[in-house]
Amino acid sequence: MSNSFSPLKSVGCSITKHKFKTSRIVNDRVEELCCTKCGKQMTKTIYGDFVPLNDRYEQINRALNDVAQKRKRAGLITA
Ligand SMILES: [Zn+2]
Repeated sequence: MSNSFSPLKSVGCSITKHKFKTSRIVNDRVEELCCTKCGKQMTKTIYGDFVPLNDRYEQINRALNDVAQKRKRAGLITA
């Protein structure tokens, strides 16, 4: 009996749907979300798509967040 890791959790999500919760706000349009049940990570993109968070999107989000932070710090360069 070894049921310490159960792939059934994500199977359950595919039937009952994931329950996503915002895990990180990247900027005012982009945010990363994480399923509270199975831990699956998704991200919203600047195009409004909802896609699985992979290495590529992680890099993009980091870059976007950098820009957002710099803008916030600069304050004046919004227009
Ligand atoms: Zn899930």
